Amino acid sequence: MAQDKPVRVRFAPSPTGYLHVGGARTAIYNYFFAKATGGTFYLRIEDTDRKRYNEEALKDLMRDLKWLGLQWDEGPGCEGGCGPYFQSERLDIYHREIQKLLDSGDAYYCFCTEERLQEVRAAQEKAGVSVTGYDRHCRNISREEAEARIAAGEKAVIRFKVPETGVTEFDDMIRGHIEYQNELLDDLVLIKRDGYPTYHFASVVDDHLMGTTHVLRGDEWISSTPKHMLLYKAFGWEPPKWVHLPVILDKNGGKLSKRKGAASVGDFRDLGYLPETLVNYLALLGWNPGDDREVMTVKEMVDCFTLERINPKSASFDEKKLQWMNGQHIHQCDDEFLAGFMMEGLKAKGINVDGEPKERIAEIVKLLKPRAHFMQDLADQSVYFFVAPATYDEKGKSKQWGPGSKEIASAVRNALANVETFTTPNIEKAFMDLTVSRGCKLGDLVGAVRLAVSGVTAGPGLWELFEVVGKEETLRRIDVALPMMG
Ligand code: GLU
Repeated sequence: MAQDKPVRVRFAPSPTGYLHVGGARTAIYNYFFAKATGGTFYLRIEDTDRKRYNEEALKDLMRDLKWLGLQWDEGPGCEGGCGPYFQSERLDIYHREIQKLLDSGDAYYCFCTEERLQEVRAAQEKAGVSVTGYDRHCRNISREEAEARIAAGEKAVIRFKVPETGVTEFDDMIRGHIEYQNELLDDLVLIKRDGYPTYHFASVVDDHLMGTTHVLRGDEWISSTPKHMLLYKAFGWEPPKWVHLPVILDKNGGKLSKRKGAASVGDFRDLGYLPETLVNYLALLGWNPGDDREVMTVKEMVDCFTLERINPKSASFDEKKLQWMNGQHIHQCDDEFLAGFMMEGLKAKGINVDGEPKERIAEIVKLLKPRAHFMQDLADQSVYFFVAPATYDEKGKSKQWGPGSKEIASAVRNALANVETFTTPNIEKAFMDLTVSRGCKLGDLVGAVRLAVSGVTAGPGLWELFEVVGKEETLRRIDVALPMMG
């Protein structure tokens, strides 16, 4: 079907909790689709459930979206022509629109109390009926009677008069043609007792009034779509195109939840993932660029983004892969940016790095960058460049400082003491000469002194490490450790 209208898509979260990675991926696809087509990506805050509304969640949500780089073209703080973008500020619009459905007879007031509804449900369950739900008790109350009761102070909700027969069908761009029997649908509430609209009503009214051309949302909303289709029909509005995104599962095929580990954007940020990694990884969970590229920038992904390449099958979240990808993205980061991050991390550890020459910091970043999987690795693994180790890796001690190690480390120490200009090639040469004079392998010489100087058993190339630590300090650290060796 030709798409002549410019694309307008939205991310429409409810600020009730953290931004789950599944939600983030929905936002990513909406953002990519808008950017790929020169369309508009807007943010709508669905805050009509006042009991579950959470001010903190709202702030975190906007911070997380910005951190991911998913800046909305319209929405809170970026007024477009379709605001307000908070549903709680659009009540007059919903009240205006519901009148249309009351007038056309597609909606009706329902006075049933919560107790009555519970009784109905219990009776249905007892009778074992296949379709449970509202028994349409108030469906035939006349408008006049209803309004008189409301004027007399009775409270009511407004329900949708769902057709009792027929089929509601729609095409999903990923799932294909879908049909629902109307008789299975409930007369859903459109306006609640507190005057706020339900999700279904507000979402349809806003998607229409805000000009949404495509609704990209999680699969869990697919059963809402027939209700939405019926609402569009009742209003006489053209529905948007539907794109229901496959769910993201954990590696055991279960729901990805905080109970079992990291699941929110904030969790992954705190673990040291870059926003670039998260966007890249989540985008590839359920979509592919049409070739075998994996590590991609947002621009590269946007340039080849199409809805057709979204996979209808559920995707499984693999944290190992995410880790690997983070390393790849860290490698692509600008050294100066990484240096800033490392310095912040070191300061947070109480290490004073203010007087450190820029060149030395740059050298350290160069050494650690290829090994880093997480942003905090940079600070965690660079401490020994600034302060001598206070403790030594326990396993390392028993492995590297056993019998004979003291003699080897002393020999290395003396060889290093004779290196006049303490540079990587000269240090390397000193080691090589020692292997020849002692008739041993390089591997026999390095373990004990690496542990002495760094406190750990793994790290960047030893010659480079020693050069950056400096001659005097390297020798001093070996001297400190020698008495601990066997
Ligand atoms: N407010 C809904 C949510 O929290 C939006 C669903 C939709 O995109 O229609 O996910």
